[in-house]
Amino acid sequence: MKNGQINRTGKPMRIEVVENVQKVNDRIAAVNRALLHEHGVRSFNLIGAPGCGKTAWLERTLASLPAGLVVGVLTGDLATTRDAERIAAHTPHVAQINTGRGCHLEAHQVQEGLSRLDLEVIDLLVIENVGNLICPVSWDLGQDATVGMFSVTEGDDKPAKHPYIVLAADLLLLNKTDLLPYVPFRPARFRADLAAIRDDVPCIEGSVATGAGFDAWLDWVTRLVVRVEDPLEEARS
Ligand code: MG
Ligand code: ZN
Repeated sequence: MKNGQINRTGKPMRIEVVENVQKVNDRIAAVNRALLHEHGVRSFNLIGAPGCGKTAWLERTLASLPAGLVVGVLTGDLATTRDAERIAAHTPHVAQINTGRGCHLEAHQVQEGLSRLDLEVIDLLVIENVGNLICPVSWDLGQDATVGMFSVTEGDDKPAKHPYIVLAADLLLLNKTDLLPYVPFRPARFRADLAAIRDDVPCIEGSVATGAGFDAWLDWVTRLVVRVEDPLEEARS
């Protein structure tokens, strides 16, 4: 049967293949999640467009968190190790995942990345996804939380144009607010679009350059790490 032909279930063949691949992905993601929890590691998946400032945001985060909190980082990138090299200045617990032409991370790549980290000593795992606001949202990696990042240089229409990251996120970040005087970004429009999609997701507006918003951000990260195990959540997974 060729791609696009309708099979007995009435769905195009290609869609069924994608669904099966995602089922396998979700199983591996569940294994990742169990492994992380077994080691007492909390995690978040950081998703944002290329150039929104994900790596810079993480650099400042790593420099600002209490020294006793050990952070491991997996950085997804198409070809280079540049992000991992920048992160390595702040923590020895970093592994690069090169995706080649892949435009998102999948659970099996994270599983392989976890085998290169010392989960015994890590308290928090950060996964910096490939720069892309679209498909990374659909691939569970086994993280506890999903963080979506926008920046004012991308324009105020991004939540409206990319509602799926807004729907999936536990927290949103709006970066580069120090550049507001120089770019045609209307904060009121951005906030109204967000609220129209979802009014229950927090959005921290801030800047890597100035540190604005970092008190709230670091507080969120710290609460993620020390969060008391939720028995209902454990039963569901
Ligand atoms: Mg990066
Ligand atoms: Zn993709």
